Amino acid sequence: MPLDPSRVVTRLEELRSVTGDENGAQRVAWTETWARGRAWLADSLADLPLEVERDPAGNDWYTLPGDSDRAVLMGGHMDSVPNGGWLDGCLNVLAGAEVLRRLAEDGTPPVTVRLVDWADEEGARFGRSLFGSSAAAGSMGDQGELRRLVDAEGVSLADAIGAFEVDLDRAPEARSQLDSAAAYLELHIEQGPVLESLDLPLGAVLGTFGVERWRIVWRGQAAHAGSTPMSERRDALAGAAKLALALREIAESTGDGAVCTSGGVTCKPGIVTSVVETAEQLLDQRHLDAAKLASMLARAQELARGFAVEERLDVAWEPIWSIEPILFDETLLGFADEAISEVSGPTHRLPSGPLHDAAEVSRAGVPTVMLFVQSLRGLSHTKLEDTKPEHLELSVEALDRLATKTIAWVAHSL
Ligand SMILES: [Zn+2]
Repeated sequence: MPLDPSRVVTRLEELRSVTGDENGAQRVAWTETWARGRAWLADSLADLPLEVERDPAGNDWYTLPGDSDRAVLMGGHMDSVPNGGWLDGCLNVLAGAEVLRRLAEDGTPPVTVRLVDWADEEGARFGRSLFGSSAAAGSMGDQGELRRLVDAEGVSLADAIGAFEVDLDRAPEARSQLDSAAAYLELHIEQGPVLESLDLPLGAVLGTFGVERWRIVWRGQAAHAGSTPMSERRDALAGAAKLALALREIAESTGDGAVCTSGGVTCKPGIVTSVVETAEQLLDQRHLDAAKLASMLARAQELARGFAVEERLDVAWEPIWSIEPILFDETLLGFADEAISEVSGPTHRLPSGPLHDAAEVSRAGVPTVMLFVQSLRGLSHTKLEDTKPEHLELSVEALDRLATKTIAWVAHSL
C-alpha cells in the first residue's frame, strides 16, 4: 500500500480524542493517560512484522528488520505537557509509523528501520527534559540529582518511573539501543513563527541552539525611599535594568538568530519604601554558533561590570545551566533539502531554539537531521497549537522521502 499522509491526520485527531480533554493534550509522561496513548500506538502497529521492545529507560522501539542490522531511526515522543497541543511530539511518532507501514508493505528493506517513542521528552512533571533520549545517548550522568527530584504532589521520580518498571540505576543501559544506529531522523512542528512568516510549509533544521543560563546577583544598599537623595543611592535594580535593555543590542549586533532574554528579576527587600538592595536577575542566551554564543556571554559580563561601576554596585555571576550548540549532519541536511523541494518547492534552513531528542542522539555521534513543519502563529505547549492539515500531510511525505534517501545512503555505505 502506498503512503497515506491523510491517515496520519486522522490518527492524530483520534489520539486527541483518546488522550485529550477540553484543555488540550494530557499525556504527561509517567501517567495513566500517557500509557494509554502508548498502548494505542502499539495497537495500531500490531499488524506489522515489527519487533517491539521497551528499553531500560522506558523508550518504546518498533523495529522493522532489514537485510542489514545497521539501522535508520525515526523518533518522536508521545508525552505532552499538561494542557498541551495535539501535534508536539506525537506528529513525529505517527508520521514515522506511517512511513514504517509503507516500508513494511514494500518488503524487507536493505537496512533495519526503527521507530522510537522516547520516554519523557518534556520533563513536564519533574523538570528533567529528554529523559529517555539522554539515557540512550549516554549523557544521563546525574543519577544522584535525578533521585532527588519530586513532582508537585511529592512523588519521587524514581517511584513514578518505577511504576512503569523503569529503574533509575539501570536506565543508562538504554545506551546499547544506539549501537547499530546509522542515522536519526525527526520531524517536528516548528513551535515558532519563522516558516509561517516566510509562507513555507517545511524547513530543514540546522541544529539546536547552544544555551547559556546564568543568575546575576547585583548588590547595592537598602535605603529609605523618602530620605535618600537620588545621588546617594546604590540601587541594585538599576544595574539589572541597564543590563536587561543592553541585551537587545547584544543580540542584534551578534545576529544570525541570536536571542537573549532576562526572564526575571527578584528584588529585595522588594517593598515600595526602599531602594533595592539585591536584584537577582535571570539570563538566557542562545546561538547556533559556539564562538558567537561565547562572545555574547563575554559582552554581557563586560557591560555588567561597567554598569556596576556606574551604579556603585557589586555584581556576581552564578551559572545555572549550559549546553553547547549541536549541529546536524551535512549529508542528511542535503537529503532534507531535497525531500522538501520534492514535496513542496522552496526549502529553508533554520536553527531550532527549543531542544529536542534529536540533539541528544546527535551528541551521541549518530548522524542526525530534523524537519520542521510550520506552526500556526508560532504557538505550542498550548491547546491553541495548530498546523494546517495540508501542511501536516506534506510533512509526512517529506519524512517518507527523507527516510528513503537515508536508507539508500546507509545501504550504499555498507
Ligand atoms: Zn516535542
